[in-house]
Amino acid sequence: MFCLIVSKEIKSDIVFENEHVSAFKDINPQAPVHILIVSKKHLKSLAETGPEDVPLLGEMQRAAVELAARYKLDDGFRLVVNNGREAGQSVDHLHYHLLGGRRLKWPPG
Ligand code: 5GP
Repeated sequence: MFCLIVSKEIKSDIVFENEHVSAFKDINPQAPVHILIVSKKHLKSLAETGPEDVPLLGEMQRAAVELAARYKLDDGFRLVVNNGREAGQSVDHLHYHLLGGRRLKWPPG
């Protein structure tokens, strides 16, 4: 389903895009800023990445840093990957959650 958003067959609020990564607002935000940073290469999860995906993962994390600056998350932000059902992964396409704009509790639930 995220493939359809990345290819723009399904409309979404895309806030960042480059050759490797697309980022858009989460449909069900858990914080004032909640952006999904999605790989254009289809990988089911972080656990499915290999050594060849290290540059892609770096691109995704750099996109998070750029977005955090753009959304002025100077006081803090969180970058989350849910890997597998027990961890809450509901969409089988590699993505990071960028969360910020409120006090985030630790440990997460
Ligand atoms: P996960 O649970 O896999 O870590 O994260 C999936 C996220 O995708 C959830 O936070 C959910 O709200 C979001 N989501 C699911 N479907 C859509 C959609 O069609 N559009 C957008 N923008 N977000 C979605």
